[in-house]
Amino acid sequence: MTFELESLVRKNILGMMKYASARDEFSGKAKIFLDANENSYGSPAGGALNRYPDPLQRELRKKIAEERGIAREEQIFLGNGSDEAIDLLMRVFGEPRIDSIMVMPPTYGMYKVCADINDLAVLQVSLRPDYSLDTELILKTAAEKKPKLIFICSPNNPSANLMDTDSIRRILDESNAIVVVDEAYIDFADAESWTKEIDAHPNLVVLQTFSKAWGMAALRLGMAFASPEIVALMNKIKYPYNISDLTAKTVISALRQTREKEHIVRQIKTERSRLMTAIADLPFVKEVLPSAANFFLVRFTDAAAVYRYLREKGVIVRDRSGQMHCRECLRITVGTPDENRFLCAVLEDFGKEMAL
Ligand SMILES: *Cc1c(COP(=O)(O)O)cnc(C)c1O
Repeated sequence: MTFELESLVRKNILGMMKYASARDEFSGKAKIFLDANENSYGSPAGGALNRYPDPLQRELRKKIAEERGIAREEQIFLGNGSDEAIDLLMRVFGEPRIDSIMVMPPTYGMYKVCADINDLAVLQVSLRPDYSLDTELILKTAAEKKPKLIFICSPNNPSANLMDTDSIRRILDESNAIVVVDEAYIDFADAESWTKEIDAHPNLVVLQTFSKAWGMAALRLGMAFASPEIVALMNKIKYPYNISDLTAKTVISALRQTREKEHIVRQIKTERSRLMTAIADLPFVKEVLPSAANFFLVRFTDAAAVYRYLREKGVIVRDRSGQMHCRECLRITVGTPDENRFLCAVLEDFGKEMAL
């Protein structure tokens, strides 16, 4: 299928002029900056907080390109969480009240919320009961309804499984949509990232985040990897200073600690298998679903009762039992060894009380 980016972009976005900030017009070296109405006296909080940050985050994008093995900085968009990237993709491509997006439930809730805000219809093609992609139905529905964006979450939230490579490749090749592969949990999976494929597929956007494996959810930094043309469109309509200087500096320093991050990811994966084995042995557990993420789904005989009991003891997990193919399922995030031991002890107590 021949892919033509411009035909997918909203006409008003193609035609508009982007906001030209003071830092776009002059970003070189000078003695005195009196061009941006900043407070030259400084900030009561100290530091260099009085100056606007680089709207294009050049230094940070360069460091991320090195760490993630991305050929060109122009293939990286940075947002206030990957949630900003999801919203901007909808605003670049989705004509409100006319266009649609496609999602595969059960999956991450923000795709539908963003679509609802942007007044885009949501086509839902459920995953199969084993949480795999229903590739034929996805392609058939895409051909008929022509969604602008197809969201594939891999590893998927909440089912924690990776999606099949050949299925994703077929959807990329055989649909005329932007295919967004959300890899928020890719660092916990034993799989290659789709970022390696952005040169080969002009309709591919890969999302990643600093919120999970990097442990920086409070900072709010998400990444989208795509062709320079798609990245330029996202940068055209973002808020000019969407990434704060504190965020950029903190992440640049964290990127020097990749060994530490990898060590933590290994620990979480070890804890994941221990915790999953312990929970699978409990008599009121029907099944523990396999995981390529830092969480997993557990099917209980009575999920609501387990949820209530855990909450009473101060342990909060996510009740996903209302979602497609998730009957009686709770989603459990892997905690520290202490947290996991406490969780297991509470679950064992639940079993004992049930037996009484
Ligand atoms: C947690 C998560 C994100 C991350 O969102 P941020 O806005 O970057 O914190 C993205 N996608 C999925 C599927 C997630 O579960």
